[in-house]
Amino acid sequence: MASSDLRITGVSVDVIAWPLKMKRRHGVGDIERSMPGAILRITTDGGLVGWGEVAPWAVFTGTAEANATGIAHYLKPILIGADPLRVSSLMQKIEKALTGHTEGKAAIEMALLDITGKRFGLSIAQLLGGRYRERVPLSVSIANPDFDADLEFARHVASLGVNIFKVKTGFLTHAEDMKRLERLRSTLAPTADIRIDYNQGLDPWNALQQVREMEVFKPTFIEQPVKRHQWEAMAEIARAIDTPLMADESVFSPADAIAMVRQRFADVVAIKIMKSGGIARAREIAAIAEAAGIIGYGGTMFEGGIASAAGLQMVSATPNIALGAEFYTSTWVMGVEVLTKPLQIENGQSVVPDGPGLGVEVDEDAVKSISVAHYA
Ligand SMILES: [Mg+2]
Repeated sequence: MASSDLRITGVSVDVIAWPLKMKRRHGVGDIERSMPGAILRITTDGGLVGWGEVAPWAVFTGTAEANATGIAHYLKPILIGADPLRVSSLMQKIEKALTGHTEGKAAIEMALLDITGKRFGLSIAQLLGGRYRERVPLSVSIANPDFDADLEFARHVASLGVNIFKVKTGFLTHAEDMKRLERLRSTLAPTADIRIDYNQGLDPWNALQQVREMEVFKPTFIEQPVKRHQWEAMAEIARAIDTPLMADESVFSPADAIAMVRQRFADVVAIKIMKSGGIARAREIAAIAEAAGIIGYGGTMFEGGIASAAGLQMVSATPNIALGAEFYTSTWVMGVEVLTKPLQIENGQSVVPDGPGLGVEVDEDAVKSISVAHYA
């Protein structure tokens, strides 16, 4: 099939403000009350609608505003009138037209795959070769500046079957972080799988000393202790400690993943569609890592149900993203649900949605209720 009978007739974007149920603190920055995002709607002349979500973080990837205007002003002209099923061809044109804006590109790709899946009655996981796993174990982040509130949250989600906890460190003193880990270890079951994420919060001169002392808590991995481009320091730490080291901010793209392999600056890599600019590039990273014996983890930004559904479809179909994932924010962190049927969590695991495309339906009134700017 050279081209289908479908054509894109509309591209609209809402910049939104997600209300949050809890504060979040990380080595790289804090989130107090609400989180900016954007929701993309692509319409076709066949009546099929594809949904996408931009989940940026200004200190990490980019901004909702820049992505929304990037789509509306630079990418919409490429999409209007195009065949939505020519996903890889359209994504190449988009890559040539606008640098960066990986979250906006991820949103466009998920909307195009949503349309493609709906056109053929297949889920995105099926388009990617089928599910490798039906459920994805959830990793819940311990990131509330009120640590007692977080212990309560950890106990609550543990009672729902969650067994993976990722503690955000590096925004307090090292002594305070050690105390938090001690308290968490004694609160949770001895079998709890604990990970530690510095979000770039340490400086290379004493990072190794601090990270080494954290090994006493037997974390499954220690994540991104130093800044994004301090690859040499990452490599030195990876060699020096017994605990696997995970790269998150240090690996956005497949080219970064090749550098990770060459310099061996990580043993684990956080794979996020918002960093890579979509599912195809995220799976390139997973493949490069797999060839080098590096294992993947399903990271997220602050994602609502649309982006989480896209990530879940990808993780379910990608064997090397094997250390769990974070698809709980739409259920437990965001104060508004934009899906008519929320993503399901059962026994501490995300259930991969059934149904064609993303496998979710969007409540347009809910989107309007948190919209702060609309580009049509
Ligand atoms: Mg991280």
